[in-house]
Amino acid sequence: MKLYSTLDRKIVEIEPLKEGQISIYSCGPTVYYRMQIGNIRAYVNWDVFHRSLLYLGYGVKRIMNITDVGHMTSLDDFGSDFGEDRMDKQAEREGVQPIDIANKYIDTVLDDFRALNILAPNGQVIPKDLTHEGVEELGFTRATEYVEEMIEVIKKIEANGYTYETEQALYFDVTKISEYSIFTGQNLDEKEVGVREEVEVDMDKKNPADFVLWMKKTGKYENHLMNWESPWGVGFPGWHIECTAMGTAKLGERFDIHTGGVDHIPVHHTNERAQNIGAFGHPVVKYWVHNEWLVNKDDGKLSKSSGNAPYLPTLIELGFDAMDVRYLLLSINYRTRIQFSVESLEGSRNARLAITRKVKELGKEKGNLIQEYVERFKKALEDNLNMSEVLSILNELLKSDNPKEDILATVLDFDRVLGLDLDKVNEDPIEIPSQVKELLDLRQKVRNERNFEESDNLRDEISKLGYIVKDTSEGQQIEKL
Ligand SMILES: [Zn+2]
Repeated sequence: MKLYSTLDRKIVEIEPLKEGQISIYSCGPTVYYRMQIGNIRAYVNWDVFHRSLLYLGYGVKRIMNITDVGHMTSLDDFGSDFGEDRMDKQAEREGVQPIDIANKYIDTVLDDFRALNILAPNGQVIPKDLTHEGVEELGFTRATEYVEEMIEVIKKIEANGYTYETEQALYFDVTKISEYSIFTGQNLDEKEVGVREEVEVDMDKKNPADFVLWMKKTGKYENHLMNWESPWGVGFPGWHIECTAMGTAKLGERFDIHTGGVDHIPVHHTNERAQNIGAFGHPVVKYWVHNEWLVNKDDGKLSKSSGNAPYLPTLIELGFDAMDVRYLLLSINYRTRIQFSVESLEGSRNARLAITRKVKELGKEKGNLIQEYVERFKKALEDNLNMSEVLSILNELLKSDNPKEDILATVLDFDRVLGLDLDKVNEDPIEIPSQVKELLDLRQKVRNERNFEESDNLRDEISKLGYIVKDTSEGQQIEKL
């Protein structure tokens, strides 16, 4: 398997630490807001990667963190440690505790993952009724559950001489690591501009790029809501330490792959790597891999802070299917920026519907895999996830004059990686009781009138009868609970 290694600055052959086994840490969601389409890209890209490894016969051990504390960066990309605690802010806004905010948004992450066929980190399909209470079993790690481990790792970093303490915080001294800026090659003075104002918050901070390992509940954070006891006083962990602590707690002191978005390179992953070396005396991660941004027509990053990124349910309200979104995000290589617009999503919908139409024509009988196509498919995946090649092989296969049932078997085999629900295209329509049918008709009527509140109420009523309604580009679809 070949991937682009950010540190090597080129495509490399991945050589796992244990033959046939790949361990992966994926940077996961921060849960004080609902994910938008710009966030979702990473999860679809790395889901396709995960599925590819399973398809190619690797054993995969993967975890994904959920940041439910300590995400203190400011809105800029410089990674200030003295931004607002947005979890606290959101809790205040909604009049609840920070942990309730986290739980609420974890549930929306699960909804979006399910809708987009994103597998759980442990490789399972996320069960329909699973909520935030069950996420640990699926390979998600919540930062708030690992504060003990974070404190242990910080103690190691301190014992190895990489830290200093002020009234406000315990810092990592970046000048102690000669290769601190290895990712970007950026010189430390260049960082100064972005973090200048912080020096005013803590006069005792030595270098602008030094970052917080443990923040004390004092000064600016006197009223911070989530706090723990620690050798450095009551307070809370810095953002980056959770990934060092959870990665090594779950995957060991050396693991194969760390995934994340390119926006994590200059601060979050630079600091995580420094902590790894500080705690364990060696880099923990063998390969760092990063996905590019989703951008608007003018190449501007789609993000919550710029307010230009829609949520998945918004796109579904517009008449798209979650599979259109999945198709768009997987059809372009993870290292290429994707321009996102309603038009580009329409293009994906057309391409996807052309595929499902052809699959429908194949009937229901499944024959044998066509090995020639399977081999080419595998090669394209191994070639740095060459998705345009993957999709052209799929289209070629659909047009080929092989026996229909063999084409179907092979297409459905490919869908183990693509995850486009191609196996559902030919499913028998389910028997729907008349009571549910009436509610569905009524719901269609109120939706045409754009009465979405009533439409949601009817959805709840239908679910009480044991059915789930999904809004797709082909109208309402119903599934048994
Ligand atoms: Zn991380």
